[in-house]
Amino acid sequence: MSFGLIVDSCFRDHATGRHPERPERLDSIDSAFKEHKILESCHCLSFEPAEEEFLEKVHRKEMIERAFATSAKGGGFLDPDTILSGYSARVATQAAGASIALARAAVQGEFRKGFAVVRPPGHHATHQRSMGFCIFNNIALAAEAMLELDSIRKVAIVDFDVHHGNGTQDIFYERGDVFFLSLHEYPHYPGTGQAEETGAGEGQGTTLNVPLPPGIDQETWFEAFHKGLEAISQYNPDAILVSAGFDSHRRDPLGDFPLDEKAYARIGGLLADLAGEHPLISILEGGYNVDVLGSSVVAYIDGLRGR
Ligand SMILES: [Zn+2]
Repeated sequence: MSFGLIVDSCFRDHATGRHPERPERLDSIDSAFKEHKILESCHCLSFEPAEEEFLEKVHRKEMIERAFATSAKGGGFLDPDTILSGYSARVATQAAGASIALARAAVQGEFRKGFAVVRPPGHHATHQRSMGFCIFNNIALAAEAMLELDSIRKVAIVDFDVHHGNGTQDIFYERGDVFFLSLHEYPHYPGTGQAEETGAGEGQGTTLNVPLPPGIDQETWFEAFHKGLEAISQYNPDAILVSAGFDSHRRDPLGDFPLDEKAYARIGGLLADLAGEHPLISILEGGYNVDVLGSSVVAYIDGLRGR
């Protein structure tokens, strides 16, 4: 079955000067895709920007309006790390819309696995706050889009970005129908993600945080990852969504994790095995070394496709 892919030049329009989360990240991925002829072997999807009403499924109205108002006046800061240009709020709705489109198409059977090359990233955006380079939470919106469909009762989100996916955790903390697994460097930004944070109410036990110290080796990382995947296997989700953050690469400037291209290929293979015939979509989060971002994404996609 073919592999679904979203790439679009619109994601370049979120340009805010000297910032690690910059349009050049897409150049790195584009050139690796060209080199490995990725587009030729994929089903490329089109999409619409997310409707404000849909964004409200996971975010407070005030937060959404603040992002639009900030772009409308030409740009500004939503938090010390999160700067918007005049186009950024629009681009964020496109990143959200792309994630939603990929999620729906994977469930509806156009393909079973896919990847969305979007920016800005999303996993730090909480129910009420844009933060940490993230405006809207793309993966949370994609999960909601899947859960609207009849065949999906519960989903699991796997986050292998070097940073804790605090926004995703926040949004689903009391939900039993979304399992959230995050492996992340700790202590590190944003400071959340301790093992004791396991969910609450109906979501008790459906958040699994694996904080790992800086400088660990790959085998320690994979041991932890295997344990996390076992927990998801027991949860038995109908679909898997991945916050694919490549700042867990050993050469990334924003983290101190041990992964490399081979490791991302292995992660892709493990996730494909875990998903089996269920939908499995991945959405780009971090990854700030443009020398290795493109090759890492390609290795991961190859792993997902069993190549
Ligand atoms: Zn990150």
